[in-house]
Amino acid sequence: MIRKLLRRVFKRTEATSSAELAIIPVDRHGLRREQLSPAARKVCAVLQERGYKAYVVGGAVRDLLAGLTPKDFDVATSATPEQVRESFRRSRIIGRRFKIVHVMSGPETIEVSTFRAGQDAESTETDEHGRILRDNVFGNQQEDATRRDFTVNALYYDPSDETIHDYHHGVADLQQKTLRIIGDPRTRYREDPVRMLRAVRLGAKLGLSIDPDARKPIREMAMLIDNVPPARLFDEMLKLLFSGHAVTCLKQLREEGLHHGLLPLLDVILEQPLGERFVWLSLENTDQRVRQGKPVSPGFLFATLLWHEVLAAWESRKADGEAIYPALFAAMDQVLDQQAGKLAITRRIAGDIKDIWALQPRFEKRSGKAPYRVIEQPRYRAGWDFLRLRAESGELPMELADWWERFSHAGHDERAALLQPDSDAPRKRRRKRRKSPAAGATPGASGE
Ligand code: ATP
Ligand code: MG
Repeated sequence: MIRKLLRRVFKRTEATSSAELAIIPVDRHGLRREQLSPAARKVCAVLQERGYKAYVVGGAVRDLLAGLTPKDFDVATSATPEQVRESFRRSRIIGRRFKIVHVMSGPETIEVSTFRAGQDAESTETDEHGRILRDNVFGNQQEDATRRDFTVNALYYDPSDETIHDYHHGVADLQQKTLRIIGDPRTRYREDPVRMLRAVRLGAKLGLSIDPDARKPIREMAMLIDNVPPARLFDEMLKLLFSGHAVTCLKQLREEGLHHGLLPLLDVILEQPLGERFVWLSLENTDQRVRQGKPVSPGFLFATLLWHEVLAAWESRKADGEAIYPALFAAMDQVLDQQAGKLAITRRIAGDIKDIWALQPRFEKRSGKAPYRVIEQPRYRAGWDFLRLRAESGELPMELADWWERFSHAGHDERAALLQPDSDAPRKRRRKRRKSPAAGATPGASGE
């Protein structure tokens, strides 16, 4: 009995490092081909008919096994990009460093990649910290499995017979709710420090706990994230923030010591002296929207993350005597200039952020013609969502957000009734009267 157990444990560690293939039949994993998208099935079928190996791989298999809806479907194949390209009329090769093929089928695009060799390949180039700069060598299926990050991500589903090809005990790990890294964790993090962030994100998304061997080194290796190009970090942070589990992920990152000074974006989020409540509310709100399948935009989220800095800068400019709007626009530029470079915020996102901020003071005027113009703004809805969050955080009375919701949905007469008395009007009329000597002589006849 003990010998059997030892053998099993031993076999397991051996298998994790040397990739021993298990072909798991459908009655043991339960994933049916009907659960795949039609395009994913078709791409595999066409490639297999032509004599190539082809599997649905990675996140889609993992998510389906975990009962989640996959974002998209990826296919891994023994065919070269050119051979894939020749197999599908609607397809194109993308990427220069490592070519992959996008195959269009109906409304879907399937990303097809050729099996790649692992990190041991001689041609792998690394920087002085061991970070992989290039891994663009084709390999066989087993090598392809070993270069993937986590065991649950190295599963190959064959739609033709509904088996899963599992080289690293990914199915068992998923069933045991463990996120295990393939190979030696320290080496794998050194090769690509982004894997530390992926560990936290995938753990939260799938409800898996990170295996202690993979978890422990994160704290001591966190500094390596410094060497990752900012644009790649930004992409990964966006994935994390829009995973539907941003709140859990961020708390976990803080626990793992993965934020301070490493991820400027996280410093903004986690070290908000001013708008802490607002930022967390906004993250909770984002999580909820993602889970309900509602649209979310980076512009909106970043607008919330940086709002309290804008508010502070705006207030101080107003206190120095600047007029409301010029002060706001200057404050917006000031905060974005400070943060945009650090956070790798693109110009387009910066434009969206400004649109949302610029609408905020306009919500305070509820009289005259102005409200009609506000609700015609293309970004009105985002602006109002933002206003509502501000109200929820206690920055403004909720009554203001409610008023706009009513006004924007009301009919013609109801709108007119909702408008507040125009406080500017009497002043204007008075000014006019002052110009005419006759009117100026009539006391007490001001507009009512
Ligand atoms: P999701 O799509 O939910 O964000 P994912 O795991 O599918 O998660 P992708 O970026 O789509 O993430 O990657 C697809 C697959 O490529 C992964 O499942 C994994 O097998 C592999 N992969 C992605 N990033 C890495 C990495 N940094 N190191 C090793 N393998 C990776
Ligand atoms: Mg994916």
